[in-house]
Amino acid sequence: MKHILLLSMGGTIASVPTETGLSPAFSPQEMLRLIPALEGLCEISTEEVASLDSTNIQPEEWITLAKRIFDNLNAYDGFVVSHGTDTMAYTAAALSYMLQGLHKPVILTGAQLPIHYPGSDGKANLLNAFRAAVVGAPGVYIAFDGIIISGTRASKLYSENFAAFQSINAPVAGVIQEGDIFQAGRAIFTHPQPFPETEPKLMPYADPRVFVYKLIPGADPSIVDMAVKLGYRGILLEAYGAGGVPNYRRDFLPSISRATQAGVVVLCATQCIYDGTRSDIYTVSSLPRSAGAISTEDRTVEASAVKLMWALGQTDDAAVAIELFLNAPPL
Ligand code: ASP
Repeated sequence: MKHILLLSMGGTIASVPTETGLSPAFSPQEMLRLIPALEGLCEISTEEVASLDSTNIQPEEWITLAKRIFDNLNAYDGFVVSHGTDTMAYTAAALSYMLQGLHKPVILTGAQLPIHYPGSDGKANLLNAFRAAVVGAPGVYIAFDGIIISGTRASKLYSENFAAFQSINAPVAGVIQEGDIFQAGRAIFTHPQPFPETEPKLMPYADPRVFVYKLIPGADPSIVDMAVKLGYRGILLEAYGAGGVPNYRRDFLPSISRATQAGVVVLCATQCIYDGTRSDIYTVSSLPRSAGAISTEDRTVEASAVKLMWALGQTDDAAVAIELFLNAPPL
């Protein structure tokens, strides 16, 4: 029988009502006791890494979690991480970059309702996460509401609906129906892409000095200069459509040039959830690139921001950080 380690981080799945609202309180063992169907599926050990609403999970927790997984890689066949849904996509991306060349599955899950509530999605999600961890495709994934999503491709699109996560600009890695895991389309979950022959490597880096600026009509470019003055080393502009940034009246190009010349990495992402940026289409999307900005292409904002933090965490050199952002796996 496979031996899976459950690492709990808190979240709604582990929460109970308090005077101020839901707060995490359940231990991993208390959650497991509610799922008799786990009996006979695998041997399970548990560790509580944190007991936080994921709103409070920050790069420090990503690093602690990555280290706990890395230190236990040889002792277990796979890992399940129970986690709040609000920032799960960020944690999944962080683990995807920090645990390079993983040869074991790491499956994150959580719930929209506390696991002990009648009708909660928590039991099914946790059970499915263990099923996915037992199947053994290496890499970091989110298993939620019957689908498995690569760790750098997930976005939370619903704050209440059970189908909270979608796979963005990539096919879902797998579908779980009545306990069986299927491939979907050209899915990679049951046929993982070849991973490097090298040993897994822990790269626990995250510089939080990355600023995300969502543009609205009338947005002020001097905020970019202010972010540079405040010491931010990366600025992600959530731009429009294919990656358009204003170059009229409130012209962002001088601020972008000043930032990139000062050694700050500027990324151009899009507010559109699907398709990503295509900086060559419009003047408003090509000029930021001429000013030194880097297009995030089909990556999510979550994965882009986290990958930039990870890249900046390992170098003082903006050019090296850009190279890591563009070319380090997963792309
Ligand atoms: N606020 C909760 C959290 O992210 C939401 C959830 O888990 O669904 O921890």
